[in-house]
Amino acid sequence: MQKYSGFRFDSVLVHGSDIDEPFGAAVTPIYQASTYKFKNAAHGAACFAGEAPGFIYTRIGNPTIQALEKTLANLENATKCVVTSSGMAAVNTVYMSFLNPGDHIVSTDAVYGPSRVVIEKYWSRYGIEYSYIDTSNIENINNAIRPNTKILYIETPTNPTMVLTDLKAAVEIAHQHNILVVVDNTFCTPVLQRPLDLGADVVIHSMTKFINGHADIVAGAIMSKTEELDKIIRATMVIMGCCMDPTQAYMVIRGVKTLSLRVKKQQENAQIIAERLEKHPAVASVAYPGLKSHPQYELGTKQMDGPGSLISFELKGGFKAGKTLMNSIRLVLLAVSLGGVESLMSHPASMTHSKMSQESRLAGGITDGLVRLAVGIEDINDIIADLEQALHKCI
Ligand SMILES: *Cc1c(COP(=O)(O)O)cnc(C)c1O
Repeated sequence: MQKYSGFRFDSVLVHGSDIDEPFGAAVTPIYQASTYKFKNAAHGAACFAGEAPGFIYTRIGNPTIQALEKTLANLENATKCVVTSSGMAAVNTVYMSFLNPGDHIVSTDAVYGPSRVVIEKYWSRYGIEYSYIDTSNIENINNAIRPNTKILYIETPTNPTMVLTDLKAAVEIAHQHNILVVVDNTFCTPVLQRPLDLGADVVIHSMTKFINGHADIVAGAIMSKTEELDKIIRATMVIMGCCMDPTQAYMVIRGVKTLSLRVKKQQENAQIIAERLEKHPAVASVAYPGLKSHPQYELGTKQMDGPGSLISFELKGGFKAGKTLMNSIRLVLLAVSLGGVESLMSHPASMTHSKMSQESRLAGGITDGLVRLAVGIEDINDIIADLEQALHKCI
């Protein structure tokens, strides 16, 4: 693991947000203030000119929020980090920062749905062009690049199909054309994958998922390789007003302390479950990068420090079996989202992707019997027992 200013990853998780404050509190307090007192007119002027340290207004900066940003930048090996009110706020802040009318974005086709919808339905109204392609085939990236391409946007692994993109190879092509590489690293977290180390320029997180990890807040983050990128992104966030709230920042500071423990335990559970599912008579196939049967198993071991805890599997009984499974689970929650301490399950064909036509769903690999399982930290025996009793009804 990387060393961060003398400390290693797991120590940064616990102590990265420590700050000097007058009462010596052992944890970073919530500075729930929207504005700050200047000592005098000269101090106010110096703060606005950026010549004196100090806070002005919480949309621009806040001690609790800044403490969190410092930790997150360290974890991704970034120069700086900007946190946002949600993951989608992070995605849109990046789009708005770098896309001008007439520009083109190349993106993984199976990205998080709203990250694609917002380009196709909204940013296209301002003259943004787009190509959604299967980035797991590097040749596709090469073919999609145009003279006006500004961003290569990658999500790996994809949700829920668990397809990987070779980040090093993708970065190499993009940088030959001066294209900014943005990676949504929500699924892996910096515990399992550090895209900036592989050459990417900007990393995005929905901290709603693993980083906060307790399914109790919505939040986002953007980590930049350089100071220049961060300046552009921060200015956009401030003017868009999609800032984080200090209490929200405090919650993430608290949640992130156990990130390593959670991610490793979830992954340990997921590996056992994936292997069991693969042998189950109700299951046709399992997609999990930790299985040798995954077509990109080798790439996974090369670019990730572990396969993570998201599994998708195909039920032999199709749509009907998918619904039966959803109605039969007891411990595992029937819910969307992922990355919390609790195991969650969803059925894309009848839930997240139900508005799509069957044809376009199938083209995106979302078959009728596909189930997504986000594995939590519960006792493995209880999760397996729950899955067994529910799957038994699907045979
Ligand atoms: C959830 C999610 C987002 C959006 O984040 P919100 O916090 O819900 O706004 C973006 N990307 C990925 C991969 C996600 O899972």
